[in-house]
Amino acid sequence: MNTIVVKFGGSSLASAAQFRKVGDILRADPARRFLVVSAPGKRYDGDTKVTDMLYRCYDLAAAGEDFSSALEAVRARYGEIAEGLGIRFDLESALAPIAEHLRKGPQRDYMASRGEYLNARLMAAWLGWTFLDSAEYIRFRADGVLDPETTYALLGEVMAKTEKAVIPGFYGADASGRVVTFSRGGSDVTGAIAARASKADLYENWTDVSGMLFTDPRIVPNPSYIPFINYRELRELSYMGASVLHEDAVFPARRAGIPINIRNTNRPEDPGTLIAAEAPAGTVIGPVTGIAGRKGFDTVLVEKSMMNSEIGFAARLLDTFAAHGVPFEHCPTGIDTMSVVVSADAFRPHREEILAALEALKPDNLKVEEGLAMIAVVGCGMVENKGIAARILGAVTAAGVNIRMIDQGSSELNIIIGVREEDYETAIRGLYKEFHQ
Ligand code: ASP
Repeated sequence: MNTIVVKFGGSSLASAAQFRKVGDILRADPARRFLVVSAPGKRYDGDTKVTDMLYRCYDLAAAGEDFSSALEAVRARYGEIAEGLGIRFDLESALAPIAEHLRKGPQRDYMASRGEYLNARLMAAWLGWTFLDSAEYIRFRADGVLDPETTYALLGEVMAKTEKAVIPGFYGADASGRVVTFSRGGSDVTGAIAARASKADLYENWTDVSGMLFTDPRIVPNPSYIPFINYRELRELSYMGASVLHEDAVFPARRAGIPINIRNTNRPEDPGTLIAAEAPAGTVIGPVTGIAGRKGFDTVLVEKSMMNSEIGFAARLLDTFAAHGVPFEHCPTGIDTMSVVVSADAFRPHREEILAALEALKPDNLKVEEGLAMIAVVGCGMVENKGIAARILGAVTAAGVNIRMIDQGSSELNIIIGVREEDYETAIRGLYKEFHQ
């Protein structure tokens, strides 16, 4: 039988009504045998996620202050869900050790993990599925980094002999049993690990959007969804600011060749976005998969005649940035010019020292241009299509925007253009109009 690992995010589990939708989705396909859950998220705008409530309990207890009403608020969230589902769940016994832990000297990761722990226990009780505690199967090393080999061995073994199970996301434990969490949003990572450990055919990541968007909805209202994206395109778009999945969730699934399907709990009829190495047969692939960008870059322009014949010039130039711990993002070159594009946040604190050090290279001209935005137009389909660069430049120009920089990686997976920050939104809108499917 096929195995699908499904992960539901906090908004999909925020209330009893959301739990019911999850139940319907699970029943719709018996291959959905392993369920990874987040802690209950926001029920409405302005609501507080249970994870944040738990961090608050920790902060109060660690400061020696009274945490009882903060913990009571957590109890009320689960109480409301259990009551709405009409199940008997002994919340008091589940919460007693947590209150005890808070009194005795709280540990931050342990407290944060209780949101997923309680939600998984509640869900397992409601579904009648096995509860597998991640603290027993997801192993971290003493330095807080995941130990993948031990984790896949432990988790793989127990999943192989379990028919249907609920697994709490976001945490595991080190060999001494001390609970360790991933970074925020880390239940996505647990889902990917569970998919790999169980050699699943598919990892479904259920959230409150119908997939990854072609571009930023704050700039283009209701942009279309991306039906299919490969891992490399996903990496490029995520790097430029598009977010749909925790970054660390991609690697385990990619290594094991398990496709990831982003789905919407509130619109299960939508196909969502499929992330895989290869598009399924019959998928129509346009030249451009998505457009993402970011503001907040500065460019350091260095001009020096005969630069090209000065061996080691580029290395010395880039070393100057590296020596100050400033990574460079792009480095377009001309015959006698090199521009180094850097994040303004990283560059500005070291600006004077770097410029002084660059003077030692004896440039004819050294100039900083502030306030650049970078836009990545990403798509593997560009390789086969002629004239995409011309269309990009044409679309941006037609939108009345001056292009400050163009950078095409040799993989032809993306074309990056730099525009002034104040032109960023206009350029994105122009590109969307030209390329969206
Ligand atoms: N509950 C955790 C958070 O709010 C982890 C997750 O939801 O993925 O970050």
